[in-house]
Amino acid sequence: MRKKIVAGNWKMNKNLAETETLLSNLKTKVGNVSGVEVIVTPTFTNLYKAVEELKSVDITVAAQNMHQSENGAFTGEISADMLKSVGVQTVILGHSERRAYFGETDDLLAKKVDAALKNNMTIIFCFGEELKDRKNETHFSLVESQLKNGLFHITEDNWKNVILAYEPVWAIGTGETASPEQAQEMHAFIRTTISKAYSQEIADEVSILYGGSVKPNNAEEIFAKPDVDGGLIGGAALDADSFAAIANAL
Ligand code: PGA
Repeated sequence: MRKKIVAGNWKMNKNLAETETLLSNLKTKVGNVSGVEVIVTPTFTNLYKAVEELKSVDITVAAQNMHQSENGAFTGEISADMLKSVGVQTVILGHSERRAYFGETDDLLAKKVDAALKNNMTIIFCFGEELKDRKNETHFSLVESQLKNGLFHITEDNWKNVILAYEPVWAIGTGETASPEQAQEMHAFIRTTISKAYSQEIADEVSILYGGSVKPNNAEEIFAKPDVDGGLIGGAALDADSFAAIANAL
């Protein structure tokens, strides 16, 4: 069956000392949540530390982004090789903040996807509509196009390295969540879209996370939906108790 996953997207938060504190709290609180894969994503400068700290527990360390090229003349960027060299095998790609503030397009994301897969990394591929899309009722077609243009060039075999994260932009950091019904409706649509482009088997096997203001008080009802396999958690992932409560809700 599909993996249940809770991933914390730390964004540009937590310096080294704060990272050490959060990691040590997470170790005790979510180090051994059974049946759930727990992922954390400290900022680049703290990834090595996190990998070292979490060696003894079952928590995966992932990066929040990476560059699509091999090592070379790309000032300020981080490659797949660099991530792997510090023990990071998983990367978030396509977060809406990357799309909105750093100009990441579907075409660029397709290249990043290729670079990650070529390096045998696991991708947490993020996508989701803005409020205007939902108001115009173009949210399904928008999500479909993000998937088709950014991801659907991969092979069937590549899907074992893919986790999806549906994050409606209007629900990120706003305190406004999609209702469990809205999340379920979109997740079911995503699965159908994958089954048409690939196969039912692939659609059934891929974990689809929901993200956007998931908190301890709403996690359980969202996670109860059959096509929601976990969450990508922003704000609430910065506090060990909240993140643990969310992981336990799954
Ligand atoms: P949020 O962020 O939980 O703070 O809304 C989610 C995300 O951006 O991944």
